[in-house]
Amino acid sequence: MNRIKKLKTRLGDIKIPFFMPDATRASIRGLTNNQILASGISEIVVNTYHLMLKPGANFLKNAGGIHRFMSWDGPILTDSGGYQVYSLIHKNSKLGEVTEDGARFRSVLDGSWHFLTPEKAIEIQFDIGSDMMVVLDDPRPPESSFEIQEEAVYRTIRWARRCKVEFDKQIKKRNLQNKEPLLFAVVQGGKHIDLREYCAEQLVKIGFDGYGFGGRHIDENGEFMDEIIKITANALPEDKPKFALGIGNPNDIIRCYFHGWDMFDCVIPSREGRHGRIFFWNDLENIKKKGIKYIEKNGDYKSLYDTMNIGNAKFKEDFTPFCEKCDCYACKNYTKSYINHLFSVKESLGAQMATVHNLRFYSELVEILRLEQN
Ligand SMILES: [Zn+2]
Repeated sequence: MNRIKKLKTRLGDIKIPFFMPDATRASIRGLTNNQILASGISEIVVNTYHLMLKPGANFLKNAGGIHRFMSWDGPILTDSGGYQVYSLIHKNSKLGEVTEDGARFRSVLDGSWHFLTPEKAIEIQFDIGSDMMVVLDDPRPPESSFEIQEEAVYRTIRWARRCKVEFDKQIKKRNLQNKEPLLFAVVQGGKHIDLREYCAEQLVKIGFDGYGFGGRHIDENGEFMDEIIKITANALPEDKPKFALGIGNPNDIIRCYFHGWDMFDCVIPSREGRHGRIFFWNDLENIKKKGIKYIEKNGDYKSLYDTMNIGNAKFKEDFTPFCEKCDCYACKNYTKSYINHLFSVKESLGAQMATVHNLRFYSELVEILRLEQN
C-alpha cells in the first residue's frame, strides 16, 4: 500500500501516523498546554458530548471557539458525541432512546433532555470550532447479531449522508470556504467482513476527508480482530487518512498501524498516568536502530515495552528516572523515588509528571512508527 505521509488540516500539516490524547473536557487533567506540547503532542481530541453539556456549544461559539477558550493553537478533533450517548442509553434505557431521527438523552449533570441528530452533531462541532469532525454513527454492542449490525450499518450510511449535507450547509452559512475543517465518516459492521466492506464502499461513494474504524476492535473473547481491522482499511481509499477511534494501548496502536490505520486517540496515557502507571521502552535504542518490524514477534509487540506502578514501595529508594533514554521533563529532572514520594503523599505533581512522561511515550511511539515508512 502507498501510504499517505501527512494530513493537511486548516491549522497545518500533521505527520502520519499521529496520536491525539483525549482532553475530554477541554483539558488534559493537570497539564498546561506547554507541558502537552513539550511532550511531543501537537494535536488533541475534545469530547463533543461533555462540552455540549458543559460549558455548552453555544457558550463556546460565543467565547470565540474552543481554541481561544482553552488557548490551544494546534489542530483539534471532536468526536460526534454519539458514543457516550449510546453508552449511557445502553446502560440505562430510562436515560434516552435512539431512533431514525437521532438520539434523545438525559444529561447526567442536571437531568435536562437533549436531542442529538446527525445535523445537530455537525452544527455543535462547528460551534465548538473543531478542525477535524466526525459524523454521528450508530455503533452497537460488539456481541450484537448480524441483523442488528446490518441495521446499524444502513443507519450509519444514512446518517453520514445527512451529516455531509449539513456540513456543506454550515460551511456556506459560516463562510468557511477557505478554512474548511475535515469531516470523517465511521465504518461500522462489527465483526462481519461483508458489512464492513459494504459500509466502507457506501461511505466512500458519499465522499469524506477521512474514515474511521467504528465499534470495538476486540471481540467478545478479548481477541484483537486483526482480519476485520485489515480488511476495513483495505476497503478505504489509499489517499485518505484512516482513524482508529479510541485505540488504544501501545500494542494495539502498532498492530492497527501495520494494518493500515494512521490516526489514534485514547485516554490511556493520561488516565493511567494519574493512577501512577508508567509506560517505558525496553530497549529504545535498539528499536530505533532496527525498527519495530525487525523485533516483531508474530504480530505482537508487547515485548517492546512494559509498565511500572510508581506507587510501589520498591521505588522508594530508586534514584533513577522512569526511563534513562526518555527526554521528557519528568525523566530529565526527577527520580522514581521522588515521584513515588509524591504519589504516597498525594501531591498532584506526581500525577502531572507521570502524565507528561506517558504522553512522551506515546509521541515517541508514533515517531518510531514513522521511521517504518522510510
Ligand atoms: Zn519520560
